[in-house]
Amino acid sequence: MVAVETRQRTIPYVDLAAQFAGEREELLAAIESALATGHWVGGAMVEEFEAAAARYLGARHVVSVASGTDALILALRVLDLGPNDEVITPPNSFVASTAAIHFAGGKPVFADVLPDQNIDPAAIEDAITPRTRAIMPVHLSGRIADMDAINAIAAKHKLAVIEDAAQAAGARFNGRAAGTLGTLGCYSAHPLKNLNAAGDAGFIVTDDAALAERLRRLRNNGLIDRNTVVEWGVVSRLDHIQAAVLRYRLDRLDGIVATRRNNAKIYRSALNDRAVFAPPCRPQEFNAFHTFVIQCDRRDALREHLAKQGIGTAIHYPVPIHLQPAARALGYSKGDFPVTERQAERILTLPVNQTLVRDDIEYVAETVNGFFR
Ligand SMILES: *Cc1c(COP(=O)(O)O)cnc(C)c1O
Repeated sequence: MVAVETRQRTIPYVDLAAQFAGEREELLAAIESALATGHWVGGAMVEEFEAAAARYLGARHVVSVASGTDALILALRVLDLGPNDEVITPPNSFVASTAAIHFAGGKPVFADVLPDQNIDPAAIEDAITPRTRAIMPVHLSGRIADMDAINAIAAKHKLAVIEDAAQAAGARFNGRAAGTLGTLGCYSAHPLKNLNAAGDAGFIVTDDAALAERLRRLRNNGLIDRNTVVEWGVVSRLDHIQAAVLRYRLDRLDGIVATRRNNAKIYRSALNDRAVFAPPCRPQEFNAFHTFVIQCDRRDALREHLAKQGIGTAIHYPVPIHLQPAARALGYSKGDFPVTERQAERILTLPVNQTLVRDDIEYVAETVNGFFR
């Protein structure tokens, strides 16, 4: 008799090689035609991607840049912040959100979050001072923050709203795309995002023609033609090849999001909700599930248990930004944002990527449930 082979399963947290395998021929053809044009930075394919993204999002203007971080910095830069001008943002994002406020010349001010990990509108109200210039919500995990409440606060206090939509490609709120709900929206097309380039890339969304025009020159050394610089700018442009990759993948984004949403739905019905909390979706949300995050006790032990069973997980993010060494000068300390701090110890991101099928998700859910039994 031959013993039944019990082979270790592997459920990767992300699988970019599998994504490429599924698109290889078409993507290589798109890259080849981009190369054949002789454009390298900017060019026809960049304009085509910007126009297609604007159509997809239902926005007037899309301005592509070199990364999501640059999108945030430049979007904040057009607000002309002074050194003590404050921008309110959550402390539980990727560090780029806060760093962008610093690099745009402003002062980051944090507001705590809700059980669903997005910024708490009541905490925004509490953080407003005479120096507040803007609110920067982060649509964490692909779930859009409460933009009805945030826009109402912004209107009341005459503040700009810069959406950090880096994790929200494909997400909607009241039927409108992430990034089109505030003054300016910022996207990342980093390889790990739902709409991903084959390297760094990002873009800014706005309906305001004057802001779009200014962003186009800020990303290009401040030049309005070859020899006229009207204000100092930076170099943050999209490569022609990345534009071709993004143009190709933009048409597949809704399919990717549909698969991730379905995977999230399977988790929701399979996970033991007495042991783990996965924030429910409100009726106005269309969540893109950039990540699927649970909150639970004994998070680190669970993570180790899952790793032993071949399941890749991540933590977004283990150290809140106000407790990072770089944030020391802002003067915050432990205890200032209790919801964020408690979540940082309890959050675990389960694999939800579009290469996983029902059986994979059920295996992960069963392994999580087994740990708590
Ligand atoms: C990824 C990310 C960014 C930064 O985008 P890059 O393209 O990596 O520069 C900013 N904010 C959030 C919330 C992100 O997830």
